[in-house]
Amino acid sequence: MNTTAAPQIDSLDALDVKDKRVLVRVDYNVPLDGDRVVDATRIERTIPTLKALLGAGAKSLVLIAHLGRPKGERVAKYSLKPAAAELEKLLGQKVAFVSDCVGEEALKASQEGGVVLLENLRYHSAEEGNDPEFAKQLAALGDCFVQDAFGALHRAHASTSGVAQLLPCAVGHLVEKELKFLDGVLADPHRPFLAVLGGAKVSDKLAVTLRLLDKVDAILIGGGMAYTFLHAQGIEIGKSLLEKDLVDDAADILKQAKEKGVEILLPSDHLVASEFKEDSPACVTESQPIPADKLALDIGPKTIELFSKRIREAKTVFWNGPMGVFEMKPFAKGSVAAAEALAEATGRGATTIVGGGDSLAVLKMTGLGPKMSHCSTGGGASLQLLEGKILPGLKALTKS
Ligand code: AMP
Repeated sequence: MNTTAAPQIDSLDALDVKDKRVLVRVDYNVPLDGDRVVDATRIERTIPTLKALLGAGAKSLVLIAHLGRPKGERVAKYSLKPAAAELEKLLGQKVAFVSDCVGEEALKASQEGGVVLLENLRYHSAEEGNDPEFAKQLAALGDCFVQDAFGALHRAHASTSGVAQLLPCAVGHLVEKELKFLDGVLADPHRPFLAVLGGAKVSDKLAVTLRLLDKVDAILIGGGMAYTFLHAQGIEIGKSLLEKDLVDDAADILKQAKEKGVEILLPSDHLVASEFKEDSPACVTESQPIPADKLALDIGPKTIELFSKRIREAKTVFWNGPMGVFEMKPFAKGSVAAAEALAEATGRGATTIVGGGDSLAVLKMTGLGPKMSHCSTGGGASLQLLEGKILPGLKALTKS
């Protein structure tokens, strides 16, 4: 495959899997409600890789994954068993489940053939410690290794880093598609190229915003993070979200953007309330200053109109982070409008790429996910890739 982040990594087709036991790292870190999978998107996205491996004659698929942060303990609520049942439905064939990811039973299952999902890797602290012995035990379960857990590539763990160095390896179709969009398309975008950033925290998006200044034509900033930028411009923001220690960084981004000729658009009107509550009466501020006793919970109608227009006119759009507190219905308009504008842009031939759990939740809420060119399964990994970082999980797969 050929992207700047992964120049020398084999695709699935380059791996000989016939009659082999294939160890596959997947990202099944899915939301659960008891033993029910609430959102199976991450499981669904691995089906093409699993079907391709079965179609190519693999003897067994041994799936390894993590769920939550059990910190090396066997915590029942982090069991992957519900994911096995969901996978069985989606794959349309029997999926065995083994209650430990290493040891006799896992080894036996790998030799028996068929598809098996092993219990949470993070029940062993050796996983996150990238312990070489643990990596060897995992490697014993396969004759080759396929990395399809995009959302885990930014971690140097035994199942992402250690094991890849011990077996012939390749990336799966999910990782390949993520890299094609997040690395390939964004490295050489059709213009205008727009980034739409939102969500609560400037701190999470600082590095990517700085990096995007070298790539995009304009950045639209909404959500809670916009208020630190407005404050940096000396605008009254009332009780809105403010990261005081990042005001200088925000001012620096605005300065650099000006120097680089990148337009930064901030909200010019706001939907405000007195309290951070769904039933707190909301009103629109016609223009900038936000009254001292109010906080902004969504972008206002004028901003929605301008942001939507700019999104619709773009040829490439990257969106990460909601425009307001979309979880509360009265404050979801800005985020829904952004999703709708992206969908329209896709319809007009633009490439639209969405990353981050909350933006994906907006797409789920509106049903507009299928209208995007690409929805990334890995929030942290997608941001780090865009920041220009070398992802440890990719580095480990690179042939020397
Ligand atoms: P992040 O994880 O940084 O992408 O932030 C997502 C969260 O930002 C969501 O839970 C939103 O409710 C929240 N958010 C968006 N806009 C605002 C706002 N104006 N004030 C406070 N929180 C916000």
